Amino acid sequence: AGALHVVATPIGNLGDLTVRAREVLASVDAICAEDTRHTRQLLGALGIERPLLALHEHNEADIAWKLVERLKAGESLALVSDAGTPLVSDPGYRLVREVRAAGLRVVPVPGACAAIAALSVAGVPSDRFCFEGFLPAKSGARRERLAELAREPRTLVFYESSHRIEESLADLVAVFGPEREAVLARELTKLFETVLGDTLADLVERVAADENQRKGEFVLVVRGCEDDQEARLIEGQRIYAKLAEHLK
Ligand code: SAM
Repeated sequence: AGALHVVATPIGNLGDLTVRAREVLASVDAICAEDTRHTRQLLGALGIERPLLALHEHNEADIAWKLVERLKAGESLALVSDAGTPLVSDPGYRLVREVRAAGLRVVPVPGACAAIAALSVAGVPSDRFCFEGFLPAKSGARRERLAELAREPRTLVFYESSHRIEESLADLVAVFGPEREAVLARELTKLFETVLGDTLADLVERVAADENQRKGEFVLVVRGCEDDQEARLIEGQRIYAKLAEHLK
């Protein structure tokens, strides 16, 4: 039987595609892609032509078994997403699960990942961290999620889009307080890459002051809650808010 290769692609700079990723993409029978147009462009830039299959959140469960059949028949397949590592805030886990459940091989072809790239330059403790992906889009749900994370001692890593970066930073200040250490990594590996900030308050100020700092793609790295006193204060506020809700 063939294997499914889970292949990381660049997060901006084409030079970050690994030699092995290129070899695998050029040699598989077909490539499952989140957005076939996007991937066709990447392959075009690499001079690779392979059949593409669309695999996104909405059809993944339906086509996974068909892909398993193809692997059983001896084909070898690759899975890519639009950028970075598949399955990291991207589709693919259902397919990988089905392939493994069928007793077939899933082979990682590692490479770029925005969360790891950000963590590697943030200068925030990184021996333990929580990847939180995207926060909820609505402020109420977002603040609730943040309240659950406010006492987390490990470094937190979030993905954010240009539409919501300001709102999310404002909610972070509201829930974590302005003094929490935080670094905003923007447009990593691209022309306008910036890594800035030291506290949440500082980030809010810098993003408000420069509209360029609101453009592009972002990873936000936030230091965990280390101080017992801070943890107690946050817990007190949380209990107070719950009580106030009940007394309404
Ligand atoms: N699978 C990807 C990975 O391995 O990083 C993540 C895909 S997720 C749908 C897209 C989000 O990743 C963006 O909204 C942004 O938060 C982050 N991201 C992707 N590329 C980035 C870059 N070059 N610089 C900063 N953040 C990036």
